[in-house]
Parts: sequence; C-alpha cells; structure tokens
Amino acid sequence: MSSILRIRWTIAPKTAPRPHINCNRCGGVKAYHSSGKFRVNANGKRIDAWLIYRCVDCDNSWNFGIVERCNRRDIKPALLQALESNDPALARRHAFDAVALRSRIGRVEEFPKAAVHKEVLGDRPENTTGLELKLGLKMPTALRLDRLLASELGISRSRLQAWDEKRLLVVGPDGAKSLRKPARAETTIRIDLFGEPDRDGIIAAAGG
Ligand SMILES: [Zn+2]
Repeated sequence: MSSILRIRWTIAPKTAPRPHINCNRCGGVKAYHSSGKFRVNANGKRIDAWLIYRCVDCDNSWNFGIVERCNRRDIKPALLQALESNDPALARRHAFDAVALRSRIGRVEEFPKAAVHKEVLGDRPENTTGLELKLGLKMPTALRLDRLLASELGISRSRLQAWDEKRLLVVGPDGAKSLRKPARAETTIRIDLFGEPDRDGIIAAAGG
C-alpha cells in the first residue's frame, strides 16, 4: 500500500505577455508593454476603460479595451474605483490575460517562465511512495504542463511519457493530453514512485 504526499504548487508567471503592434511612430511592428495605468472615460451614463500599453522603443501608446460602452449602473463601484486609481493588482490581472489580448491583436509574445511556490498539504506520511500535486495559478501561464513537471521535478520529459504509458502518472481532470497544454488551475497530478530508485530526490524536488 502506497503512502501519498500531497503538495500544492502555486504558479506565478514572471513576465506579462507582450502584443506586437504595427507602431505608426516607429514605422514597423514593435512589442508593446503594459504601463500599469488605465484610462477611464466616464461620460454621462456610458463608461469605457482601457489599459494603456507603450511601445518598448518610442513610448507610443496603444489602448487595450477593458470596459467598453458599459452602462454606469452595470459596473460595480469598487471596479470603477480600482480603474480610476490604477489598482496594480487589477492592471496585472489584465496584463496577464493573453487570451483577451490575442482577441484584439493577432501576435502576442508569451513568456513561459514562472515561479513555483510549493506547500505540503495535510500530514506527511512516514514512508512516501507517491505524490499528489495540485496546481494553483496566480495568473494564466503559457508554460506547458510537461515542461513545468520536468523542470520542477528534475526529470526528463521522456521519463514523464514513460510513466504515463505505465499508468504511474495520472493527470486529472482531463487526462494525459493536458501534459502538452499550458498548465491550468485545479489540475491534479498523481505519480506512483514506488519503483523509482531516485524517489527521495524527486519527492524533495517536488517540495516534500
Ligand atoms: Zn514605436
């Protein structure tokens, strides 16, 4: 009977995605980055708000629509306040929303580096022979799940593949196909390490 150590991994991507925009001041396609500032237009009943991006070379601005033609009574006062005060957490959340960015701009450069905070959940079994990793995400990330697991556990991706084929690795809720996709919140990875000679090293790398 195996003893399973449960660990939560909280993933925080390091760099926000950057849209590539045809900069009319530079005269070519350039990367733009979030300025962290919002522009809010509250004319009468209608509210618009944008996150302002700037060209990395010439500082030219581009507005990323956050709230568009919203009726004043449909917007929460706390959100309006956060927009008007350039709330850093709100600006960060929108700046990391690669999906919304891509819906406005065809080319978005993503950065797959992330910091992973590891925390043991519940009791530590006396003789650990398996791991259950639960993912939490501070922001969406472009980092593929198999790359995340390989780098954080200090193993090769082919070894992950072999574990999957032997059913020593189980990924929930969407199965092994999640390995080739960006890591998602609430994914659970179970690994049976009973027969692995370097099991203690892997468990230590996992945060156990
Ligand atoms: Zn420019």
